Amino acid sequence: MFGKRIRLFQLFGIEVRIDWSWVILAILIAWSLSVSIFPFQYKGLSSQTYWLMGIVGALGLFLSIIFHEMSHSLVARRYGMPMKGITLFIFGGVAEMGEEPSSAKTELMMALAGPISSIVMALLFYGISLLGSQGEWPQPVIGVIQYLSYINGLLAGFNLIPAFPLDGGRILQSILWGWKGNLRWATRISSQIGSGFGIVLIILGVFQFLTGNFIGGMWSFLIGMFLQRAANMSYQQLVIRKALEGEPVRRFMNPDPVTVPPSLSVEQLVEDYIYRFHFKMFPVVDSERLVGCVTTKQVKEIPREEWRQKKVREIAMSCSPQSTIDPQTDAIKALSIMNRTGASRLIVTEGDRLVGVVSLKDMLGFLSLKVELEEKGTVGSREA
Ligand SMILES: [Zn+2]
Repeated sequence: MFGKRIRLFQLFGIEVRIDWSWVILAILIAWSLSVSIFPFQYKGLSSQTYWLMGIVGALGLFLSIIFHEMSHSLVARRYGMPMKGITLFIFGGVAEMGEEPSSAKTELMMALAGPISSIVMALLFYGISLLGSQGEWPQPVIGVIQYLSYINGLLAGFNLIPAFPLDGGRILQSILWGWKGNLRWATRISSQIGSGFGIVLIILGVFQFLTGNFIGGMWSFLIGMFLQRAANMSYQQLVIRKALEGEPVRRFMNPDPVTVPPSLSVEQLVEDYIYRFHFKMFPVVDSERLVGCVTTKQVKEIPREEWRQKKVREIAMSCSPQSTIDPQTDAIKALSIMNRTGASRLIVTEGDRLVGVVSLKDMLGFLSLKVELEEKGTVGSREA
């Protein structure tokens, strides 16, 4: 979902970043404000004035979104949730949490903070625009302030739609969670509504597109796609997190993994191990001791004609911290490392001793069994 992020600044210890997609969006917003919205609403101003208004308006929107996300983050931190930072990307902002909320009340407070802050901003800008009208401030200044009042109201309104993972969906989720005490059920219901709302937006987008509203149609379609995907992903992530929580890596690892001796030639490694097991990485073990890791990437760097002479010992490197894990570590941690690095296997070590290998496949296998066994007896309808 995220491409390249640019770090902007830190506020109250929370890092604010923007995704490249947001830069494109900001330019699009400034452009559409300058050439169509402001000239339509406030006639007879110079094109430089419209551009200035457009740029200030886009900047104001940017600060409004940061204010909204900052409110989520500060309330979250007040309730003891570690916050990683705020990233602005094409569909607005995302406040990144280190972990999920621990209680329904925390979730409710966090979710409410954003829309409330946007409503406060909308009212504030509305008040200032009234003052400006009475004080006969210049038209462009009042215009931008009115726009900011409107856009903050829109931000609050859109986010209050009860479609998870929008704020309104989180509010619904926390209320359901508090009511029945079942987080998984609450998340399932609210993310199903979120996903449904996403589909409605997609259909609306296609309809708008067919009736000639290309830009509006494109936005509805894209936001619908994004919401639908985010809703499904949030639910899956929760199920995975709940199932793996508190399970040590030791439970999933293969204690007797395939290893290679350092004296093996690269040719044998390719023929007898890589082609046979289809793994990208093998631990190199010399009399019970882990001496390093050998990967297909290292093999690729050796010219074909040297495969016969070269030994694994010569090309193996020390296993990186990204590919090793302690047997007592939470399985969630293993999953997040795999997620981040794209590796599907991690080496489990105790000191310099290899104790096993944990693979994504084994963890997912356990997961689907556990979910299937526990799904019976939960509140609400069962999934297929
Ligand atoms: Zn929000």
